[in-house]
Amino acid sequence: MRRTPMCHRHASPVRCLPAVVDLEYPGGTLPAEGYRCPRCGHELFDAEQVEQAQKRARELGLHGIERSSRRKLRQVGSSLSVTLDPELLRELFPHAKAGDEVEVGREGSRIVIRPVRAHSKRDRSAA
Ligand SMILES: [Zn+2]
Repeated sequence: MRRTPMCHRHASPVRCLPAVVDLEYPGGTLPAEGYRCPRCGHELFDAEQVEQAQKRARELGLHGIERSSRRKLRQVGSSLSVTLDPELLRELFPHAKAGDEVEVGREGSRIVIRPVRAHSKRDRSAA
């Protein structure tokens, strides 16, 4: 069971109340579970709430572009290619290796790269 946090901005601590708190991210606002001091409005989160909000914000892409780096486009035959930062690649696709397939497409004005899952290789050979 969660312990309700206390607001220590007062002569004696005030018990905070559960509240939905709007968190601002570069990509938008995320309403998240937290606590608010009924006396001064100070907003607090416990560790689990912080973790959940961060996870949700990441899923929704609210952090904007994370870990961005500048890369150069290179001519490969008639296409342009870009190399990927190995550390960034390892973070998201830890088992990626040369020759693996990725799906590349657009999401609004962004280019998105994601791994092709093992089971969808069958779809490709059927086509
Ligand atoms: Zn307070």
